[in-house]
Amino acid sequence: MRVLVSGGAGFIGSHLCDRLLADRHEVVALDNLSTGRAENLQHLRGCRSFRLLIHDVCEPFKECRGFDAVFSLASPASPKDYLDRPIETLLAGSVGTRNMLEVARKDAAVFVQASTSESYGDPLVHPQPETYWGNVNPVGPRAVYDESKRFAEALTMAYHDRYGLETRLARLFNTYGPRMKADDGRVLPGFLVQALRGEPLTVFGDGLQTRSFCYVSDTIEGLMRLAVSSEPSPVNIGSPREVTVLELARKVQRLAETECGILRLPLPQDDPRRRQPDIGKARRVLDWEPQVSLDDGLRKALDWFRTALG
Ligand code: UDP
Repeated sequence: MRVLVSGGAGFIGSHLCDRLLADRHEVVALDNLSTGRAENLQHLRGCRSFRLLIHDVCEPFKECRGFDAVFSLASPASPKDYLDRPIETLLAGSVGTRNMLEVARKDAAVFVQASTSESYGDPLVHPQPETYWGNVNPVGPRAVYDESKRFAEALTMAYHDRYGLETRLARLFNTYGPRMKADDGRVLPGFLVQALRGEPLTVFGDGLQTRSFCYVSDTIEGLMRLAVSSEPSPVNIGSPREVTVLELARKVQRLAETECGILRLPLPQDDPRRRQPDIGKARRVLDWEPQVSLDDGLRKALDWFRTALG
């Protein structure tokens, strides 16, 4: 197959390109390198089935055609990155998604939209099933990301309903692994890098808020299975293993064998209190669930950052 990946130089996008190439597909990656990095794809230089085009998804894409599948991943994704780029984030999810949907429509390609657990906002239902509509503050700081992804979901469904486009919606929960930016502000890699540098780990608020972390190879497997399924409605892809931020800090300290302490910092506004996917649908429809345990994933990520930091 010939596959287009927008946001292909990003953390998840670059792993997706690797997987598609390993499965012998031809891949064109689009990225404006706003938060993505060409070095994430450096190892693919010279690969004849792969091309990286520096392109902003907010501009119509007409350079090449004939795609069988389009993966739409282009967006700032960490709170620090999207808060630094509020308008750009809203445009990536709206105009950018539309431009990628148009490519898929013209080629009658399968369209896979990367959505997010942020669609649920600060959830009042726990764990979160796909049927939960969410609790998003539409004018809060996180809205630029949450609403952009919710709009992207709505637009994707509209293309499905209006044009009969084969569409998929993946609600990705916190994903981690190699190639995350050391300074992207997320808790992982933040803790991993701090531990490796012997600095105190920065815990926001009381640290009792929870997240559920999925290792990137599991996320990619979920995306691939979703692409070849025939499920147009949203599917959660994430780990059901829920941890508090404080537990995560202790785990990282233990794995990194570091004595560094903990530095308490204020909790950002509208920080979701609890987050855990209900993955019953992914199990049922995709026969998918994460395979990498949190300890194993953290070890792999720690090893990668140790090398990356030199
Ligand atoms: N967090 C933290 N210390 C950090 C960065 C984040 O305690 O250095 C907390 C943050 O407040 C949130 C959780 O870790 O409750 C996950 O934050 P992240 O930015 O990784 O992703 P989110 O799930 O909020 O998008």
